[in-house]
Amino acid sequence: MTGFFDTRVEFLKGVGPQKSALLNKELDIFTYGDLIQHYPFRYEDRTRLYKIRDINRDMTHVQVKGVIRNLAISGIGRKKRLVAVFSDDTGSIELTWFQGIQWVMKRISTGTEYVVFGRPQFFGAKASIAHPELEAYTTRHDAGGYLQPVYPTTEKLRSRYLDSKGLSKLVKALLPTAIPKIRETLPGYIRERYGLMDKAEAIRHIHFPADQKWLKLARHSLKFEELFYVQLRLLTLKLSRTEKLKGMLLKDTALLKHFYESHLPFNLTGAQKRVIKEVYSDFKSGRQMNRLLQGDVGSGKTMVAFICMLLAIGSKAQATLIAPTQILAEQHYKGLKEYAELMNMPIALLTGSSKIKARREVEAGLESGELKILVGTHAILEDRVRFENLGLAVIDEQHRFGVAQRAKLWNKGSGYMPHVLVMTATPIPRTLAMTLYGDLDLSVIDELPAGRKPIQTMHAYDNKRLKIFGFLKKQIALGRQVYIVYPLIEESEKLDLKDLMDGYESVARAFPLPEYKVSIVHGKQKPEEKEFEMQRFVKGETNIMVATTVIEVGVNVPNASVMVIENAERFGLAQLHQLRGRVGRGADQSYCILMTKYELSKDSRTRIDTMVRTNDGFEIADTDLKLRGPGDIEGTRQSGLADLLITDLSKDEEILKIARDAARETLDSDPGLSLPEHREIRQQVDSIRKNVINWSRIS
Ligand code: ADP
Ligand code: MG
Repeated sequence: MTGFFDTRVEFLKGVGPQKSALLNKELDIFTYGDLIQHYPFRYEDRTRLYKIRDINRDMTHVQVKGVIRNLAISGIGRKKRLVAVFSDDTGSIELTWFQGIQWVMKRISTGTEYVVFGRPQFFGAKASIAHPELEAYTTRHDAGGYLQPVYPTTEKLRSRYLDSKGLSKLVKALLPTAIPKIRETLPGYIRERYGLMDKAEAIRHIHFPADQKWLKLARHSLKFEELFYVQLRLLTLKLSRTEKLKGMLLKDTALLKHFYESHLPFNLTGAQKRVIKEVYSDFKSGRQMNRLLQGDVGSGKTMVAFICMLLAIGSKAQATLIAPTQILAEQHYKGLKEYAELMNMPIALLTGSSKIKARREVEAGLESGELKILVGTHAILEDRVRFENLGLAVIDEQHRFGVAQRAKLWNKGSGYMPHVLVMTATPIPRTLAMTLYGDLDLSVIDELPAGRKPIQTMHAYDNKRLKIFGFLKKQIALGRQVYIVYPLIEESEKLDLKDLMDGYESVARAFPLPEYKVSIVHGKQKPEEKEFEMQRFVKGETNIMVATTVIEVGVNVPNASVMVIENAERFGLAQLHQLRGRVGRGADQSYCILMTKYELSKDSRTRIDTMVRTNDGFEIADTDLKLRGPGDIEGTRQSGLADLLITDLSKDEEILKIARDAARETLDSDPGLSLPEHREIRQQVDSIRKNVINWSRIS
């Protein structure tokens, strides 16, 4: 699409330098191509003319034909308005204008037939439309009407007459010249097989659909195309990596057998066994592994990571685990050390705050090969940290681990890129995982260790607080500990801190010394103070921990079995789920209590209901995706998914699957895309690559 579609938008008639600057800034529209790809997000149905008697409260918009019977100005000053009585043979409604009254008066007249379009509002039984759109009736209106595209726009653009209508005009002006220049991006046989429109037709109908049927087909075709190329890119990446990157062979299982026979502290779950098998088959394949391990909080990922490490170490290699923060690194270290000690396996921790002497020791141990497992933060990626023979890198939380950092793993050892296992406790819905991580293989631990009691989740309104306190006292009497968490949202930090302090005071009143002891932890404390309070709770010296969400990462207190979340309506689903995961770690029945005010928005209610209904992280992630859309979910920004023009990942899973299969089939039959029938695909891949290069230069 070079040439014409790269033309700067200011050259379009009716745009000019000022408007084009606004289009650049507000909507990222720079070229003709960008404008053509600025798709409507919905359509107003102008295909039907309704009778006035059929207008009802459920309609968001309505189109009616009729005559203006009466026009009058009423009210004065700011209440002044123009009111028209508009009738057909079934009844009448009011049309009102609050602004531009003189302008409207000049242009409309009683007795003429008009077609009116707008949002009906009801005052009692009487319908009224404020600031309707009004056109003189012509026979065109009987010939089926049309779907009016509604384009995303902004306040600034509206003030420059680039509202949805204005944008629509620009597109309409551009389309006739553009359409003949639109190149097919998919070969005829694929369009035929999957029932897709030609690209040019699809573009025409996405902007100006002839009817719902065409619109549906146009949308489907453009989504398919978009997803096909996303998937093609990911699959190509994967293909080139598995072809190019030889993997270290790690197939000696003697050490693992020894661990299984003598030291395994519990039976592995079926899911854990399955994942270990998947990893092992990568280790002995001769290809470098890139695998994503998903497992809910408490599903036993640490043991899986440890066993994979044993496989590596048994084959004379070393292993490392890299975590995004110091707290998480320390926690992983603690978890792994527990298992490593069973085997007398040398293990060490390296973070930004490790002392020089300890650092030197670690570095020496790594280079000699004596140190087998290193856990830490990004400090591990520094050049001076070198392994004798690094075979496996476990990475916690892909989201914060970029391509450049992955590349650093190259320089760590033996000339092989180590096998990579990315662990995440953020359940990612399948659709998103396929798009975000399509270049990684996926393993899922979808089973919790046996005997774990599912956490019971309850919803309570604020006015039931006394009753809840009574429940907490009973739990404390049984020897349990309790978290009470308050939201912390940055913009309103002051307010939140006040909420927290008020909450703390009322908790302290209800749970008085000396019988009860309460800790408090929040972001405004000094680190020492925070640590001190945390430790008191961890050691069981206090019964209740009142905290802001700082506890989301970092503490593991198996004896804490109740999680109370205040203002739960203000938390997102993912966060609620993570917080709940702080309890349910011991053998006791655990509880999560979601406190909210009485009035809840529809979305808040859905979130709360979802939490009460299920503990399944994947179900929760799916609901989250549906409520929020993918743009909001952590990680999607960096991955370029925000660049999807038309696909809605929360709704388009089916198309995604079909497009992925099509992409895979294409690459299976023709990995180099060199067959003549793949000419269009090759061209499109090249032009996307060129664009990506351009973008990376700009940004
Ligand atoms: P994750 O890292 O996935 O959140 P962990 O590895 O921390 O989960 O495991 C949570 C707890 O469950 C730990 O105390 C661990 O020892 C225990 N655990 C792990 N796997 C099993 C199993 N198969 N059977 C019983 N307990 C297990
Ligand atoms: Mg863990």
